[in-house]
Amino acid sequence: MDQKWMFANRLSNEYEGGVNEFVSFAVQHAEAIDNIICPCLRCYHIRRVNQSELKDHLIINGIDPRFVYDIVMLEHGLRERFSFLSPAQTTKFSYEQVNYIHEAFTAQVRRDKLFLAPFNAGEHWVLIVIDVFKERIYYLDHLRQELTERKQMKLMFDTALKVHRSTSGMSVPKAKQNYIPWDIIECPRQTNSVDCGYYVMKFMKDIITHQQLVIPTKYFEDCQFISYNEEQLREVKDEWAAYVFYNCF
Ligand SMILES: [Zn+2]
Repeated sequence: MDQKWMFANRLSNEYEGGVNEFVSFAVQHAEAIDNIICPCLRCYHIRRVNQSELKDHLIINGIDPRFVYDIVMLEHGLRERFSFLSPAQTTKFSYEQVNYIHEAFTAQVRRDKLFLAPFNAGEHWVLIVIDVFKERIYYLDHLRQELTERKQMKLMFDTALKVHRSTSGMSVPKAKQNYIPWDIIECPRQTNSVDCGYYVMKFMKDIITHQQLVIPTKYFEDCQFISYNEEQLREVKDEWAAYVFYNCF
């Protein structure tokens, strides 16, 4: 089963077709069809639902792309060094969403930690990586669009960092008070229009597996590809499939 639908627009036929196929698979493999663990962005594998709820949730809420968390982080004990921000709660600049990010920072910040925020920039996924303690943000966009085209996104993360700064009493040199540096990372570039979700997953996996808390501007030495090839992307696609199919049902 192809997983591309998971990153398609939720209103598209591709997404709905994928959901139907996914639900049939789930029903066939579930112990009881009214008791299926839901991988949607609201239930996040905790709540159990029936067949029609599963379909509704996947259409309405979307599917959770944070598979890296479970398959890589738990295996390697990296929970302390990397945290994820939910893409469902960082969609647009609003008081609630800034507050969500700020609360995540406050609850989990420590000196040697990065927050990974897969961000849906309108039918296109990018990755934002935040070092709260150093007030530094890394930006990975495999289409290399200008950051100035993403003003709302930048404002949301900058504001959350500033709120965190003022509530935690962190002192910052005067010159840096209004300026939070964003490092544009020269990551591999995407060559088609459908793989962006997989690129972001691959970036997250690269960052976590390197276990480094600084992302070099030219990206990690052993990952400096012009673009990822089919095999490199298949690696995250297969893991995603394995995660969903073997852990969720
Ligand atoms: Zn659900």
